[in-house]
Amino acid sequence: MPAYEYVCKDCNHEFTVFLSIKEFEAKPKIKCAHCQGDNVRKKISVFTAKTSKKS
Ligand SMILES: [Zn+2]
Repeated sequence: MPAYEYVCKDCNHEFTVFLSIKEFEAKPKIKCAHCQGDNVRKKISVFTAKTSKKS
């Protein structure tokens, strides 16, 4: 499941949200895990699925 990193513009708290692609495409309202504000900005997407395998 992809993880999305957000940073809150109000309190600078960084947090990670786990959403499926479907959930993310529904553009959910992400709230800051610290101050519950919705003034958050997405940082990067980190995919937990590993693309490289050790042989
Ligand atoms: Zn905040």
